[in-house]
Amino acid sequence: MSRYAKTDVRIWDDERIRRLSPIPPCGQGLWIHLLINRHRTPIPGLIPIGRSALAEELGWSLTDLDRCWRELGEMARADWNARLIWLPNAIRYNEPESPNVVASWRSYLDEVPECSLRKEAEAVLVAHLRSMGQQWAAAWSLAENKVYRPSKIPGTLRETIKSRDGNACQYCGKRVDWADHRGPTGGTFDHVDPSRPSHEFNLVVCCRKCNGIKGFRTPAAAGFKIPRTFSEHSETVIEKTSEASCNQEQEQEQEQEQEEELGSLIGISKKISLRSDQEAR
Ligand SMILES: [Zn+2]
Repeated sequence: MSRYAKTDVRIWDDERIRRLSPIPPCGQGLWIHLLINRHRTPIPGLIPIGRSALAEELGWSLTDLDRCWRELGEMARADWNARLIWLPNAIRYNEPESPNVVASWRSYLDEVPECSLRKEAEAVLVAHLRSMGQQWAAAWSLAENKVYRPSKIPGTLRETIKSRDGNACQYCGKRVDWADHRGPTGGTFDHVDPSRPSHEFNLVVCCRKCNGIKGFRTPAAAGFKIPRTFSEHSETVIEKTSEASCNQEQEQEQEQEQEEELGSLIGISKKISLRSDQEAR
């Protein structure tokens, strides 16, 4: 037996459905409507809709809606001023299929009104993604645009870092292959502290394997040694560096890089887990 059934959220607009007798005001009816609602975002549980609009869609009075809403208790929260509904358990039943899905939530986050309920929801989502694994949590950071990793690294800066680090991975010491764009020995640049901008002192040459394992973590969090070029310089130097202002074209390039980078990270993590599976046998 299948546990889930696919339903088109536009069901309520279907003429044949509209001809059927409507859902009378009741707790179960409200719950079903929230689960199959065209205002839902792809981010599990976040539904930007106000109280009046919801009542209107259901064809209920506000008094009826309020009464049924109270029945839901902790199953659903709302900030009616911000026009946002949050179903706290939704992520448990709608886990994203891949980190790429999480990264794609980025464009929908902008549609969710900013309010304390949204912050609360984000905290629950992040905690759940962390429990799923590092790659999922990292993808959420991308969704929030909080990491500097995808920033376009200017060619001159790339060359400076390459010659300084001698084309050697600053974590495992192995020589990297700049012509290898997919494999574990391929050359990449790592933002030592992923929350800080692209800067000479925050970038190191890194093999793709180490980059994949480190993910969007600091060396300490990933159990890696701190590269000497990072520790030698005070953090303030990096902070003072202003990121070059980007025009839209550059931003698109960044997004593409971001996706490529995430793609390769996911590929590597899959390979690693595959290998450990095989080793376990
Ligand atoms: Zn390495």
